[in-house]
Amino acid sequence: MNLFRNFKSVTKTCYGRGSFGKLGEILEPIRTVTPGQAPGFMVFVVDDYFADNSDFKKRIPNKAGDELFFISTLKEPYTEQIDALRDDIVKRRGMPAGIIGIGGGTVMDIAKATALMFTNEGSSVQYQGLNLIKKPGIYHCGVPTISGTGAEVSMTAVLTGPVKKLGLKCDWTVFDQIVLDPDLIASVPTDQWFYTGMDTYIHSVEAITGTKKNTFAEAYSEKSLEMCREVFLKMDRTNVKSDEFLMVASYMGGLSLTYSEVGVCHALSYGLGKVLEIHHCIANCIAFDKLEDVYGEYVQEFKTMVKHNKVHIPQGLAKDWSEETISAMAEVAYNLPHMWDHAFGPDWQKVLDRERIKGWYRRM
Ligand code: NAD
Ligand code: ZN
Repeated sequence: MNLFRNFKSVTKTCYGRGSFGKLGEILEPIRTVTPGQAPGFMVFVVDDYFADNSDFKKRIPNKAGDELFFISTLKEPYTEQIDALRDDIVKRRGMPAGIIGIGGGTVMDIAKATALMFTNEGSSVQYQGLNLIKKPGIYHCGVPTISGTGAEVSMTAVLTGPVKKLGLKCDWTVFDQIVLDPDLIASVPTDQWFYTGMDTYIHSVEAITGTKKNTFAEAYSEKSLEMCREVFLKMDRTNVKSDEFLMVASYMGGLSLTYSEVGVCHALSYGLGKVLEIHHCIANCIAFDKLEDVYGEYVQEFKTMVKHNKVHIPQGLAKDWSEETISAMAEVAYNLPHMWDHAFGPDWQKVLDRERIKGWYRRM
């Protein structure tokens, strides 16, 4: 079956070592909201990993009058957090000229979601879903400091709400500008580097193996997989090319999904995230590790990557899960029909039921 998509791309992209140094220059024209009037202010949301790093803080191009927030990534972005951030800024300062997210998927999604909520009334809860946003948001720019989620290119900002874990998904979610500077990801600890990096590997595998893929998806997937193999099987992290490859692999893995879908691993990962609050990328690794019956040689390759990089994928978790927990996760996963349709085709209900899903959880 042909998949019709008419997707919006990131408007401007710069890539290369040192490109973060250009951010101030890039933002300058955006500050002038109305010609002839005083320039507007910018909101910077930055991963609080950098809060004590004075050298890095000096490089953030915030000016007098800008707002700078260091954001904890302990919890994945949630609707209340976005609403509160917007309300606080609007109440104290009025409407900003733009928002810049400097961090991983968590902080980039916060920037994307908040940009939309500056112009859309009420709570972000009411906009969780596809094309529910009514108006374009304010200017938003993403600067990844860890690579793999593809949040820098995707059209969604994933939020956990009181009922759903679901993105604000529409054309306006896509960044106006991204700054891809491989220097920024060098400090990511090995385990986290691997978990988040594997998100792009898994995006590419899921994009390329399902029923909805087309040549467009394949082109991005294949290149991303090739680069992942370089990074996670061949190169040492000290190789200057490693971070350069990973940053582009993340971008390509994200784009592989524009003309395809995620599959079984992401469905299971959503269950782990919603019910147990396990973060997206490590949840993917926990799930993918047990999906040899679906993704065969890719899972073997994943295990080789795990060994090669000496990282730890949590094992034996299910022994501490009650039947109730497993059922709750299976329910979340089962209710993602577009992922199952992609993975197994339109007759997916013939090969998949809640029991099969529970079986995968019991292996973890
Ligand atoms: P993250 O933003 O949660 O950060 C993970 C950890 O890495 C944190 O401890 C953070 O402080 C640390 N870190 C980040 N940069 C660092 C650096 N340069 N040096 C040292 N430490 C650094 O990580 P993530 O895996 O990129 O993002 C996960 C989030 O992305 C989840 O909330 C998930 O829902 C979301 N996500 C979004 C999309 C999308 O398309 N919008 C896709 C996949 C995942
Ligand atoms: Zn993912």
